[in-house]
Amino acid sequence: MEISIGKGGVRGRFAPTPSGLLHIGHAWTALWAWALVRRAGGAFVLRIEDLDTARCKPAYVEACLADLRWLGIDWDEGPDIGGPCGPYRQRDRQALYEQAVAQLAAAGRLYPCFCSRAELARLAHAPHGLAGDPVYPGTCRHLTADELAERAQRKPPSLRFIMPAKVWRFEDGIMGPQRYDPPAGGDFVVRRADGVMAYQLAVVVDDAAMGVSEVVRGADLLDSTPRQLALYEALGLRPPAFSHVPLICDEQGRRLAKRDGDLALASLRQRGGPQALIGWLAWVGGLIAQPEPMAAHEALAVFVRERAPREAVRFSNLHLRQLLQRYGMA
Ligand code: GLU
Repeated sequence: MEISIGKGGVRGRFAPTPSGLLHIGHAWTALWAWALVRRAGGAFVLRIEDLDTARCKPAYVEACLADLRWLGIDWDEGPDIGGPCGPYRQRDRQALYEQAVAQLAAAGRLYPCFCSRAELARLAHAPHGLAGDPVYPGTCRHLTADELAERAQRKPPSLRFIMPAKVWRFEDGIMGPQRYDPPAGGDFVVRRADGVMAYQLAVVVDDAAMGVSEVVRGADLLDSTPRQLALYEALGLRPPAFSHVPLICDEQGRRLAKRDGDLALASLRQRGGPQALIGWLAWVGGLIAQPEPMAAHEALAVFVRERAPREAVRFSNLHLRQLLQRYGMA
């Protein structure tokens, strides 16, 4: 199918997980993803990453679309308007993921893993890999046919991808040159034992199928990139460029979480326009000298790659109070 390519073939995306309300940290990342694409005259795709049906709720999808519209972010393709690369909700794209898993399996790149949660938790003492996860030591990688048959009687396995033992390098569009030495996180799950596809697999299949040329997302996913590069390579797909935006953190250096209800965009949206928030984000992010209100289209001139911070952005309680006051919440 023909993909409507943006100017210069630039295509970007925002891919929220509707397991809670979006917060001001998501607004920060979404503005970057949107602004970098729009400045280049590119097309912007909205994709809902709702694979985990137990955690993701339709009400959060609705809130997410309303939050983004409120911010002034627009998209050319998405779950509400469709497009040539749809569907734009991951739970409707299962067949594509199954195909990719079959391709990896046929190429001998996967193995079934029967390790239980408890067994994996015990690995917490093993050397840590990406995002603090223990590196999987390959327990199930070399099971004999008999062992496999015996374990398969007891429980369904997850499927793990064999992480190639090589050095992964890439140039991040914000964070600069990156290098990950083996095991670069080690063998990782692409399909859970309950059949739910893992983020790493789905994101690669989707970004490739949707013609995404540059992935712009939070720096919490920086160390997922070697895994994704390995999947692109194994599936014979061309990887996009990557840019990771430093997270915004509170005074204690904690990143924002969906549980911080007060910082939910939905709460601010009830109380005013987005300009105060966008200006505040640009200010705490060091992009402007004063927290002057600005609309999303004005942010295009400010959220420019060369000015992006490379370190986590910290806001103080004083900063936060200033924001909440603007929305009559402090
Ligand atoms: N769905 C992921 C999240 O909400 C983002 C995935 C990505 O941008 O690659 O954290």
